[in-house]
Amino acid sequence: MSTDSKRITHLVGGSSWTGVAERTSKVYNPATGQVTGELDLASAATVDEVVKVAHEASKAWGQTSLTKRAQVLFAYRELVNRDKERIAQLITAEHGKVLSDAIGEVTRGLEVIEFACGIPHLLKGGYSEGVSTKVDVYSIRQPLGVSAVISPFNFPAMVPMWFVPIAVACGNSVVIKPSEKDPSAANAMAELWKEAGMPDGVVNVVHGDKEAVDRLLEHPDVKSVSFVGSTPIAKYVYENGTRNGKRVQALGGAKNHMIVLPDADLDLAADAAVNAGFGSAGERCMAISALVAVEPIADELIGKIKERMGKLKTGDGTRGCDMGPLVTGEHRDKVAGYVAAGVEAGAELVVDGRGGDFDGAADGFWLGPTLFDKVTPEMSIYTDEIFGPVLSVLRTPSYDEALELVNSNPYGNGTAIFTNDGGAARRFQNEVEVGMVGINVPIPVPMAYYSFGGWKNSLFGDTHAHGTEGVHFFTRGKVVTSRWLDPSHGGINLGFPTHD
Ligand code: NAD
Repeated sequence: MSTDSKRITHLVGGSSWTGVAERTSKVYNPATGQVTGELDLASAATVDEVVKVAHEASKAWGQTSLTKRAQVLFAYRELVNRDKERIAQLITAEHGKVLSDAIGEVTRGLEVIEFACGIPHLLKGGYSEGVSTKVDVYSIRQPLGVSAVISPFNFPAMVPMWFVPIAVACGNSVVIKPSEKDPSAANAMAELWKEAGMPDGVVNVVHGDKEAVDRLLEHPDVKSVSFVGSTPIAKYVYENGTRNGKRVQALGGAKNHMIVLPDADLDLAADAAVNAGFGSAGERCMAISALVAVEPIADELIGKIKERMGKLKTGDGTRGCDMGPLVTGEHRDKVAGYVAAGVEAGAELVVDGRGGDFDGAADGFWLGPTLFDKVTPEMSIYTDEIFGPVLSVLRTPSYDEALELVNSNPYGNGTAIFTNDGGAARRFQNEVEVGMVGINVPIPVPMAYYSFGGWKNSLFGDTHAHGTEGVHFFTRGKVVTSRWLDPSHGGINLGFPTHD
């Protein structure tokens, strides 16, 4: 470990773990290429230790009144808001996204905390008086116990916040397993729960890789798993978690299309394509990676996009640049490999992000914004989720062919249409087979009180994240049928209960 490299470890029962890790992994600053942290990777035994603490804590927390739970949520909201910038700095230092983008991520996470502050209202059940003579029926929702939250590198604060505030508001305890690439934000966010008055053991963080995830998937005291990551791992987590009897929501990868119709405002569309294609270096599950231009506007639109790309500054996220580096050197090389494959396959490379001028250290994981034209559906730059700053333009002659392209894609996370024709937009929202749809909005991430989730290979499970679906995911329903007798007796009746 270099002198500048800090140890990053698990948070269990309100304190840092004091054990000795059998395995560790390196954490980098992507803008410098330097190792900044050594992360403890949990063994199965360490996961057991953390789940045991969470399980014990869930018993009392699940019995804590709604008023008290909501008070902790309100206090937590204030603390995250207070420390927004500090958390964002941790994100920039390990993920590489520019500071303003990192602040935006924490802000979107705050919205979920604010939603969860309304838990007394959200958990209200139904009540039917007099369903039969002197018989009432009512429904209640109860916590599950221990919930596991396994998150990806690209939103180290926001994605855990999609789940954790709602899980704990519902009376569960949580074990968060952040990405091993940028683990510090999750620790900082978890520490704030203690300051907010959360009892120790309700919110825990365990760091690790496949070994930790596999143990969470099989541990009998883990009752639900909320996973976000790439499609193959999401599918794996869903299949293994459900096989072990757990409730699982597993959000996977994406290939988001933006259709531009000939009547669209092309300046608005060009701005949107650049923002959604290159924001966070394309490392967003809602990034636009395929732009479908319905002819005859492709040439004009590409000209406008190219002009805007020429003004983008790529560099260290702390220096006021537009776009930061990629998360690791390995990932940068993989994305650059896709650029080479696109050229090889015959796509027209309009802007090449390889090489170029970057405002940062020479060893940073740099790749500039890249634009391809005349991309066709069989090319790997179209079929694969690249997860980098590479935007591919496909040209189609009609709306119907554009729609067919979107609907035949195996992913269905987000999509957008740009048009000034309300009828076309309405038809699109009805016909498109994608979970989140934007109309003249390129990154249609729903507000916290709606639910976030894609279709097809972008989500495995029935329940989307946050909103009322989140409350349902983190609770079990129970229906009570009660009779408070008059001081008379109904007598013996062995028939199936019906209502009179
Ligand atoms: P990833 O799948 O590599 O990792 C996600 C999590 O799974 C991490 O915590 C990681 O430690 C764990 N993991 C990795 N390999 C594993 C294995 N073999 N077995 C068990 N667990 C394993 O994803 P990533 O690279 O961190 O994140 C980027 C991906 O996440 C992209 O595909 C992106 O589209 C997707 N994503 C989706 C959404 C969504 O809402 N649908 C949101 C954000 C990111």
